[in-house]
Order: sequence, then C-alpha cells, then structure tokens
Amino acid sequence: MKEEKEYIATRNACKLCNPLGACLAYKGIKGCVPLIHGSQGCSTYIRRYMISHFREPVDIASSNFTEESTIFGGRQNCHQAVGNIIKQYNPEIIAAATTCLSETIGDDIEKYLKEYKAEFPDAPDFIYANTPSYQGTHADGFHEAVAATVRSLAKRTKKNTHINLFPGMYSPADLRYLKRVMDNYKTNYVLLPDYSETLDGSSWSEYKKIPDGGTSKEAIITTADAQASIEFGAIFNKAGGSTNKNGRSKETAASYLETTFGVPALRLPWPVGVEATDLFFKTLSEVTGVEKPDEYVKERGRLIDAYADGHKYVFGKKAVIYGEEDLVLSIYRFLNEIGVDTILIASGGKSGALASEIEKLTMGEMKMPEIIDNADFEEIAARSRELKPDIMIGHSKGYYIARELNIPLVRIGFPIHDRLGGQRLLHIGYEGTNDLFEKIVNAFIEKNQESSEVGYKYM
Ligand code: SF4
Repeated sequence: MKEEKEYIATRNACKLCNPLGACLAYKGIKGCVPLIHGSQGCSTYIRRYMISHFREPVDIASSNFTEESTIFGGRQNCHQAVGNIIKQYNPEIIAAATTCLSETIGDDIEKYLKEYKAEFPDAPDFIYANTPSYQGTHADGFHEAVAATVRSLAKRTKKNTHINLFPGMYSPADLRYLKRVMDNYKTNYVLLPDYSETLDGSSWSEYKKIPDGGTSKEAIITTADAQASIEFGAIFNKAGGSTNKNGRSKETAASYLETTFGVPALRLPWPVGVEATDLFFKTLSEVTGVEKPDEYVKERGRLIDAYADGHKYVFGKKAVIYGEEDLVLSIYRFLNEIGVDTILIASGGKSGALASEIEKLTMGEMKMPEIIDNADFEEIAARSRELKPDIMIGHSKGYYIARELNIPLVRIGFPIHDRLGGQRLLHIGYEGTNDLFEKIVNAFIEKNQESSEVGYKYM
C-alpha cells in the first residue's frame, strides 16, 4: 500500500504548466504567434520560464481574462486578442493554448476561432490545443500542440515525398543535430516543431517581432504526404486517462497522420546512448535506403572509446533522475549502458505508463528502481535523503536537493535557469551521448578533486 503523505497539497511540483509545452511547440512554427487563452499571469509565467532558459525574446499573447470573462466566458477577449495580434504582428498563424481557468469554465476556443474566421476570412490560420494544467504537464501540452498543428493543417497533395520527424521536447541543439543527420542522409524531411533558430538565433541589429525560422505552413501541410513519420518517445501525451474531454488526448501527430492519411508511424526511443542511437540510424537507413554515413560510424566509435576511458569513474555509482517521462526513460536506458545504478526515477507526469516502460527496459533481469510519478520535489528530496545517491541528473529545479546532499547535479532538459547555455545542450545522438557521458564522469572527478585534502592536478 502506498504510504500516506504527511501533507496533501502540491508544494513544488516536478512539472511545468501544460500550455507552456504548447507554446514551446508553437515557437517552432514559422510566422506563428502563440496565444494563451486565459489570464495574463499564465502567459507572464510562461514567458519568464522560456526567456530564462532560452535567453531569447519570447512573445506570447494573452486573451487576458478578467473577473467578467471568468463569469461570462472569454469569447470577446479571444476575439479582441486575435485582432490585436493581427494588428501588431501580422502573423501567418495564430496558435492558441487554453489554460486551467478557461478550461474550468468550459470555454469553447474552437468555436471562438471559427466564428472569427467566418467573420474575417482573410485572418491567418488558427491552431488550438486544449491544455488545462490540472490534466497534464508541459510535455503533454507539447505533444498535444504538435498533434493539433497537423490536425489543423495537414492535407494530402501528393505522396511519398519525404520523412516526417516529430521530436520530443528537445533542445535547439538537438533539433540542429537531427537536421544535420537528415542532410547527411540526403533525404527530404519535415521536422515539426523546429525552434532551433526561433529560440536560439543569432543577435539582431533590429528587433524582430517574429523571429526567423520554424517549420513553414507549406511544410506542415505536406506531412500528410510523407513516406513515414518517425516520432521519438513512448509516453507522449497520455495524461488524463484514456482521452481528454475532446476525446483526443492519446492521439499524437504521427498516429493522427497514420489513421487519417495512411502515413506509417514509427515510434523510437529518444536516441540517447549507443543502443537507442543505433536503433535510430538503423531505422533511418531502412526507411531511406541510405547507408549510415561514415561520419556517424566514426562518432559511434569515439563514443565507445569514451565509455572505455571513463567507465571506472562511473561504474556502480547511484543516481537519481527526474524530469519529463520520456526524458527520464531515455536517461535510465543510457545509465544502464554505462553501469550507473539508477535508484530513483521521478517525473511530474502521471500517464501511469512510466513504471511499465521502465520495467520493459529492465528485461526482467535488473532490479527495478524506485519510481515516483506525479512527483513533488519535496517527495524527491525526502526519498533522496534516505537513498543517498551519488549524483542527480535533471533540470535546475532539483538543485537545492543536490546542494543539501552535497552531490553533483548534471543539468539536462528544461528548464535550466541557473546556468548559461541550456538551449545549446546536446542530449541526443552519439555526439550528445558523449557530451552527457563526459559531464557525468567529470562531475564525479571534480567532486573527488574538490573534496581531496591534496590538491592533485594529474590523475
Ligand atoms: S493557472 Fe494553470 S495554465 Fe495558468 S500558469 Fe498556472 S498552471 Fe499554467
């Protein structure tokens, strides 16, 4: 029986807000302005979180609910917000995400946007995703928004033109890695979303209301024509039971395209670690008929060499990992590969699928780590005090636990608010795995060196 908590309230949830994930996905669409349908505070929080991580300007509009709209509905605010966005930004697409408040009062964002389009046929295209935070995490919102985007725009034109790639909540550096891989395979592709430039661009001499980059509307339309879709993850947007109130929660972009247009959907784990990255390249070679380019054969070789060099520093160490469900799954798999013993896995997600996905990876041979889903950082801290890990791996929000336990924290994922360069962390592929491996090894080396009475400089 699960132990009763001493408290009932969430104090420091190991997740972020659902529409935040949707806004991240929308920032990867060319010419798009995200619109938060709810109160001003929601969009301010989302902007602040994204700006502190990506260190880029992040414009997110709000329909700015008042007491009146909370009681009588947000139709007027929605229409006014859309009108203002068109006037200020002249966007190609306006992409809406709902909030706790607008969902609680049952506002019908789809209807509002359709009404606007009927009145002003020249208005930009609209996308909308239902993203109440009490029903899911930022990762759920991200996948819901990507699915909503293809639902709104994909149309069959011709067939078998390219491969669709639907990444997880990757960093801009990860997205650039995927693009380089596809270019090296000399294969046409549509990557959705692509915020590799919009959220990690070069400096501007003049302010741009909408940053360059992102997946174009034309490209999104053609996702229906693809030869296949590759989507990365196992859990996606499974929160909220079998379906959300619109009956769509379990649908991902790839599964929608498969059901609606017959585009085969291939699901792969995040390519972190040798095994998962091998699987990615093998699948890519099978789908494209192109052999793995030599560059990646060499990259793989360097990674294996690094594993051999660093193994003695990490073998048998105990780790706590936390973050989005698909992220912790991939890190668990990678830590198994390098001989680190994962003792606790925590996620704010509550898909109910995390434990069974982890169990698959143990293959009935390894001890199951302790798993906390729907996690609160207070719970992670309490269990970590008992379990006494050697290292924590996750985003910045776990720092205070690592500090209290006097152990290293290797920062990955989102948000990274206490270091520079979160947007340029590479997690995937042989190269990203190498970076991650070296960070973990060096964290242990540094800890030993710092706590040594002898100031050695050679080992
Ligand atoms: S009220 Fe809900 S949607 Fe708004 S910021 Fe808080 S969790 Fe996110």
